[in-house]
Amino acid sequence: MPESARERVVTGPDDSVSSPEQRAAEMLRDRAGRNSNSPGMNDLRPRRFADYIGQRNVVNSIQIAVEAAKHRGDTLDHALFHGPPGLGKTTISQIIAREMDTTLVHTSGPALERPADVVGILSNQKQGDVLFIDEIHRLSHAVEEYLYSAMEDFRVDFITGTGAFAKTINLPLQKFTLIGSTTRAGMLSPPLRERFALTYHLDYYSDDEITQVVKRSAMILSVPIDNAGAEVIATRSRGTPRIANNLLRRVRDFAQVRGDGTIDAEIAAEALRVEGVDELGLDRLDRLYLETLVRQYSGGPAGINALAASANEEVQTLEDVVEPFLLKIGFILRTPQGRRATAAGMGHVGEDGTRRGQGALLW
Ligand code: ADP
Repeated sequence: MPESARERVVTGPDDSVSSPEQRAAEMLRDRAGRNSNSPGMNDLRPRRFADYIGQRNVVNSIQIAVEAAKHRGDTLDHALFHGPPGLGKTTISQIIAREMDTTLVHTSGPALERPADVVGILSNQKQGDVLFIDEIHRLSHAVEEYLYSAMEDFRVDFITGTGAFAKTINLPLQKFTLIGSTTRAGMLSPPLRERFALTYHLDYYSDDEITQVVKRSAMILSVPIDNAGAEVIATRSRGTPRIANNLLRRVRDFAQVRGDGTIDAEIAAEALRVEGVDELGLDRLDRLYLETLVRQYSGGPAGINALAASANEEVQTLEDVVEPFLLKIGFILRTPQGRRATAAGMGHVGEDGTRRGQGALLW
C-alpha cells in the first residue's frame, strides 16, 4: 500500500453545526495554536507503529493483535480507544489501518444522525475495512442499535415501509473492523462497550516522550532546535502531542521573527510567555477556570454548571479540555459535592488555601 493512507472521510448532515464536543475539540486546537487543521499538520502524524512515540503497553498489545490477525488472514477485532483529546487516538487508528493494509473510513458520532446514515456506511464497508467513529459516545441510541448486530454478526436488519407495508430487510455486511474513539468512555452504553474485544486507554505522555515528539516534529518541519529548547516546549505541552506540535509552530514563528530561526530554551520560554502559556503549560482558559473556582467559589465545592456559567464557557469544554489535566496535576478534585481546588491549585493562582478555612483540602 502506498504511504498515503487510503482514507475516506464520511460526514453527516449536521457536520456544519458544531456540537459541544466539536467546539471543545476546536477549543483545544485553538488554545495553543490556530494551524492544527492546516494540511501540514497531517505530515506530523506518525505513519507506522515504529514512529509512534510512547503508549508502549497499548502499542505492544495492538501490534500483537494486528500481526495475529494478519497471520490468520482475518480482520482485526473491534477496538475502542479512550482518553483525553490530542493524545493520538486517531493517529493510532490510522496506523492500524495502514499496517493492516486496508482502508480507513472516518466518521464521527454526531455525523451519524439517522439510522440510514449508519446503514449506508456499513453497507459500503469492504472486507477488512476499518470504520473509525470519533466521539463514539455521541451516537444516538437508534443508530447505536444498528451497530450491535453489525459488530457481532456482520449484518443489519432494518424495516422499510410502514403499517401493512412494513418489511424487515436483512442486509449481510462484509467483515469489517470498528474502531471507536472517545474522550468519555463512561458515557458509552454497556452493550456497545462490551462489543469491543480490544479496549485501550491512552494516558498523558511523560516529559521525555513529549520531548521526543517535539524533536521529531521539528525535524519534519526543518526547524533547528536544541535539546533545552525542545524540553521547554515539552514541559509546557500538558503531556499532549497535539499541544506540543501547536506550541512548536508558535515558537518556530517567534524564533523566525525575533531571532535567527533557531529554537533554544530562551527563545522557547519567551515565545510561550507571549502566547500566555505558563511554566506548567496552563493557558488563559485553565487559569480562568482555577481563578473562578478559587476566587468566586472560595476553592469550592462548586458544581460544573455554576463554574461554566461564571467563566462564560461550555460545560463540555471545561470537562473535556480543562479539567483532565488539572485533575492529573492535582490542582482540583472532583467530589460528589462538586469541584474543589487543592492547596496546590490555590497556590498556583496566588491564593493561600489556609486563609479560607479549607483545611480539609490541604493535601
Ligand atoms: P486524538 O485522536 O487522541 O485527539 P490525534 O491522533 O489526532 O489525537 O493526535 C494529535 C496529533 O498529535 C497528531 O496530529 C500527531 O501529529 C500527534 N501525535 C499523536 N500521538 C503521537 C505519538 N504517539 N507520537 C508522535 N506524535 C503524535
